[in-house]
Amino acid sequence: MEEVTFHKHDVVIIGAGGAGLRAAIEASSQGVKVAMICKSMLGKAHTVMAEGGAAAALANKDPRDSWQTHFRDTMKGGKYLGDWRMAQIHAQQAADRIRELEQWGAVFDRTPKGKTSQRNFGGHTYPRLAHIGDATGLELIRTLQQKGIHMGMDVFMEFTVRRLFKSDGRISGCFAYDRNDGSLHVFQAKSIVLATGGITRCWEVCSGSWEYSGEGHALAYWAGAEMGDMEFVQFHPTGMIWPPSVKGILVTEGVRGEGGKLLNKEGNRFMFDYVPEMYADEFADTIEEAEAWVGEVVSGQLATNRRPPELLTRDVVAKAINSERAAGRASEHGGAYLDISWRDPDEIKKKLPGMYHQFKELAAVDITKQPMEVGPTAHYVMGGVKVDPFSQETTIPGLFAAGEVATGLHGANRLGGNSLSDLIVFGKIAGEHAATSSKDQTDFSTIPQSEIDDVVEETLAPLHRKGGENPAKVVSDLREMMQNKAGIIRSGELLEEALADLDSLEDRAASTSPGGGRIYNPGWHQALEIGAMVTVSRMCALAAHRREESRGAHTREDFPETDHGHWSKVNSVITLSSDGSMKIDFSSYPEIPDELMSLLDADDLQEEE
Ligand SMILES: Cc1cc2nc3c(=O)[nH]c(=O)nc-3n(C[C@H](O)[C@H](O)[C@H](O)COP(=O)(O)OP(=O)(O)OC[C@H]3O[C@@H](n4cnc5c(N)ncnc54)[C@H](O)[C@@H]3O)c2cc1C
Repeated sequence: MEEVTFHKHDVVIIGAGGAGLRAAIEASSQGVKVAMICKSMLGKAHTVMAEGGAAAALANKDPRDSWQTHFRDTMKGGKYLGDWRMAQIHAQQAADRIRELEQWGAVFDRTPKGKTSQRNFGGHTYPRLAHIGDATGLELIRTLQQKGIHMGMDVFMEFTVRRLFKSDGRISGCFAYDRNDGSLHVFQAKSIVLATGGITRCWEVCSGSWEYSGEGHALAYWAGAEMGDMEFVQFHPTGMIWPPSVKGILVTEGVRGEGGKLLNKEGNRFMFDYVPEMYADEFADTIEEAEAWVGEVVSGQLATNRRPPELLTRDVVAKAINSERAAGRASEHGGAYLDISWRDPDEIKKKLPGMYHQFKELAAVDITKQPMEVGPTAHYVMGGVKVDPFSQETTIPGLFAAGEVATGLHGANRLGGNSLSDLIVFGKIAGEHAATSSKDQTDFSTIPQSEIDDVVEETLAPLHRKGGENPAKVVSDLREMMQNKAGIIRSGELLEEALADLDSLEDRAASTSPGGGRIYNPGWHQALEIGAMVTVSRMCALAAHRREESRGAHTREDFPETDHGHWSKVNSVITLSSDGSMKIDFSSYPEIPDELMSLLDADDLQEEE
């Protein structure tokens, strides 16, 4: 019998990023006993990497902004596939959540009049992103953490959760192991909030850290939750591409928000070519006039709600860079040039200090003088655990989800800045409802010993295997395969190959042998993560295979058009069948009410008919 330590908490939060911390603060404030479990050190969650800002209609930079416009932009950016109820709640509450962060001590950048500054980002009609230079996530986490630790929660750092338990259909706890010493732990809980972030480590070129292996998505699926929109994975247009050791690291959209121009190897500002109709009016009959106009918009001399072409939504810009490459006009290392050097060097260093240092130190490029070289990088998953929009409860009673692991708000494509605001809006709601739900439970449910034995055995199995493959090789093959077969441009044929490859990767994963013992053994951790990576990759490939159209972040070369009929109305839903196979179905959100419909872009809606 292996030794297992038992813990009891009313609410267990899995994940200590923005969503998890915000949920923990809210649950603790209701007087319930809260545990927070995270795979890395507290403060190191992915949220800390967020750069550009958090979107909220504060209307500080442009008084015309409102929650209604934010709602419209979010629905439009998501190609009308998002849950309008979440988009409404998010747009209405984001500004209050930002003000609350300020009250808790977050030091946002200021306008000359002392208001919270806001910057332009793709798809947002007005400057909307509250920011702290280009290190917004760091300040957000610092503030939430400082607030959170004074609320009296128990924190379990460097613990990986591997299984969720249910009793009579309701969530009853989870199993985790300590990554430092390999000790085994069972957490009994009356409710759980899943806040485990994203899945982008399943692609070879990605902006995510090692934590993004998708375990939270897999945990929910294995426990029987419904998973939605898994075909929609966002490829951010601007990741670093050179030198190879830094490939994928994000170059914030803030660079384009501050006026960065995208150029091909011929020096042409190619984004104008992809949307000529947007600029052929009184502002700009020629590209030169359009450029001058864009310069005035960026420097704030011209008040308009139209943005430079580089600030079209991420799906459009990423595909344009891809098309330039296909046409033989790529930059030296296969991407595009991003040039901000036309702006005053001191302004660049002040507004984009992180980018200045990132390029100086990692690529020996001085962005105040030279262009950056950039290309698409897997960045964010719009798909995830399906939740009730008003409580964030999943289809499993007592299990809540918030942040990147949940789905609904972003539809087929997320707007930049809408994730940080998503975390604080829906993290709060999840924490509040998880606490209320836990109070409705009189006692903790018993977790059957057989289920504990089962997950203990599975967790320790890789350490007993001899002579198998190195888990790192299987992970690297999976990531390369997903990059090539389920990447930015997909086809039915490639996706079928991806699904077949995943079957064989699953077999290989089951026989890896990391060697070593339970103490500080990264090979063992990786051997355990592969199962989740295969599962989430399969969800993405399956849903992408079924969606026979191109929409937002999902592009099929064999179905290049956006369908305005059937596919415009349905969201994919993946569940685990009783025979262990993966099942896919489709469902729709309720009809959008007339008063909200009237806020949407009439031109788009005519097309949608
Ligand atoms: C470089 C970069 C820049 C970005 N910039 C912006 C931006 O400017 N604006 C914006 O809106 N969005 C931005 N994003 C996106 C945004 O940062 C993320 O979507 C968001 O931070 C996710 O937050 P989260 O709370 O859902 O998860 P995270 O912050 O990723 O936290 C996940 C937590 O779950 C834990 N965890 C995961 N699996 C397990 C497990 N099995 N057991 C225990 N714990 C587990 C992790 O340890 C971690 O604590 C950016 C993303 C990147 C990569």
